[in-house]
Amino acid sequence: MAKKKKLAEIAELEKQLHDREAEIELLKTTFSEIGSELDIEKVFQIVAERARELIMAETVLIPILDDDCEVYTYRGGAGKNSTEIVGESLPYNSGICGWVWKHKRPWWRGVLDELNDEDRNIWEKEAGSIILVPLEGRQHFLGGIAGINKLNGSDFDRRDLNLLSIFASTVAIVIENAMTFQKLEMSNQTMLDYQLRQEKLNKQLKDSSRELEYLSLYDPLTSLPNRSLFHDRMTQHISYAATYQQTIGLLLVDLDDFKKINDTLGHENGDYLLNLIAQRFSENLLPDETLSRLGGDEFVFILPQKDQLKTLERGHELLELLKIPFKVNETEIAINASIGASVYPQHGKDISTLLRHTDTAMYHAKDIKLGIYLYDPDVDETSIGQLTMTADLHKALDEKNFELYYQPKIHLQDDKLISVEALGRWEHSKRGFIPPNIFVDALEQIGLIDQYTEWAIKTALTQIIAWRDMGHNIKIAVNISTQTLNHTGFIHFLKETIVDSDTGSNLIFEITENLFLAEHERLSETLRIIRELGITLSIDDFGTGYSSLSRLKKLPVSELKIDCSFVMDMIKDQDDEVIVKSTIDLAHNLGLTVVAEGVENEETYQRLKELGCNTVQGYFISKPLPISLFNEFLTHRKKWLLTHKIN
Ligand code: C2E
Ligand code: MG
Ligand code: MG
Repeated sequence: MAKKKKLAEIAELEKQLHDREAEIELLKTTFSEIGSELDIEKVFQIVAERARELIMAETVLIPILDDDCEVYTYRGGAGKNSTEIVGESLPYNSGICGWVWKHKRPWWRGVLDELNDEDRNIWEKEAGSIILVPLEGRQHFLGGIAGINKLNGSDFDRRDLNLLSIFASTVAIVIENAMTFQKLEMSNQTMLDYQLRQEKLNKQLKDSSRELEYLSLYDPLTSLPNRSLFHDRMTQHISYAATYQQTIGLLLVDLDDFKKINDTLGHENGDYLLNLIAQRFSENLLPDETLSRLGGDEFVFILPQKDQLKTLERGHELLELLKIPFKVNETEIAINASIGASVYPQHGKDISTLLRHTDTAMYHAKDIKLGIYLYDPDVDETSIGQLTMTADLHKALDEKNFELYYQPKIHLQDDKLISVEALGRWEHSKRGFIPPNIFVDALEQIGLIDQYTEWAIKTALTQIIAWRDMGHNIKIAVNISTQTLNHTGFIHFLKETIVDSDTGSNLIFEITENLFLAEHERLSETLRIIRELGITLSIDDFGTGYSSLSRLKKLPVSELKIDCSFVMDMIKDQDDEVIVKSTIDLAHNLGLTVVAEGVENEETYQRLKELGCNTVQGYFISKPLPISLFNEFLTHRKKWLLTHKIN
């Protein structure tokens, strides 16, 4: 019996020894697995799995206190339900964990006796199924390893407690290391992120300062150097030229009628065209030249080592360059420009003098329609340009210094005079006669054109009535600027002024053909209202612009005026005659009547009659006349016609 008991004891001891060896083996493998592991998540994972094997628990969880010790988080786990729990955080003092953190001692069934009645009541039921040992690193209290439910259904016992405690004390150091490493890594990463952000910020700063520098030196629309950069470059050229006694040519290019192009094509297309021009200029720039855009439609060329003659030659080349049509919206546009030229040092030794003189020359070129003009100190600066004109135009409007001249339009079928064109005239007190296209442009630029047009219409209406009283029923054609037609106030004015359609039907509005390019809603509405008032719409200067007849057909116009430039030479120039003839035919097909302007001789008059043109206007019949002379012409017209052998 005693022997049997002894044998049983020996067997038990052997089993214990075997278990102990297995446990030591497990500890060893765990340690070798995680001893050098720095990936904290992996460490938690291995520790949880090995602990579970060690104490044979259904689940093992690793709650770890956060840095500020306000919460603990399940960072690792193995076994039943662990995946759902891992990642969850709880307040530091909650549950059994809270008790362990507070007492820095393990929790197991054995501590129940130490609890006060209240705590014992809470945990008594689960006491045997949970075991939780603290994880204490060398420097910090980290958290713990918890086992939940023994696999064989029994309670965790002291042996489990001892095993888990030894296990925890061994792995705590590894966990602490890995956690420190992770923190280091994280702060390294933050450092790197910070550095990257800093670098990005620096780059952004550099980019935007580069952008700022670009914006301050280049024109954003065309990317050409702007006024500032022009100044810089010109300063360098002048200092070089001064040292080596060289000349520099300066050309200021100002596009003609660009405002009209903008008005008719719209600003977006205007900008597009400016870009095309800038591009063409740039592509044709010679190696030592500098091109800048000074603003608006003004470009300036610096031509190092060019004298007067060479500067002028280059200017002519640029004018030619602009004549090759530009394509905007399927429309071909040829550009005219006026160029002012000056040369350093003859026309100025500093930039501002040179620019001022080039500007003066440019205005002179524009005034006298020369294309290009070299600065001439003898030309009085004040007589050129718009500056003095502004005040004078205001005065002329206030004092009614403008006058309408009338030029007859003759019906070719019966040689009858049924209408006239009213053309504005302005005799400037100091400068004498100013051509209408110059002052009309100026009125448009300073915003007085509406006021002028209203005056012209009122004057024409008064004249219509005066002629009626004299027994003549004559229609008057008034030229209407594009700008005015685009203003809504103009319609109000017309509705107020033209009270009966009888008067309205004696008015014709001549509108330049370019206007019809901008086929936007408002314009057709305006034209419709004008038609309703009985006014006839006529397309002026046909052939000089970019409209096609098919496009014009869509608008409520009834008359088309072929521009002087085709009519004047049609007898000599075969091409012109072809253009005139086909325009007449096409216009008739579209139901429009045709007026030929610029009829200067009898042959043209007769030829137009043969071609079926409806009406003619030109010096052959009469120049535009002031009212007194026109009335004389009216009275003696029969005699006049006889003298000219018409009929
Ligand atoms: P436009 O409307 O095409 O007027 C016809 C121009 O041709 C007039 O020039 C007229 O004098 C000229 N002309 C007529 N017959 C002949 C001829 O046989 N040979 C030649 N070489 N020329 C002839 P003008 O009076 O200098 O007017 C020029 C332009 O100024 C007009 O062209 C018109 O666009 C504009 N204009 C004139 N008066 C006004 C006005 O009151 N308002 C507006 N908005 N524009 C006006
Ligand atoms: Mg006209
Ligand atoms: Mg005309």
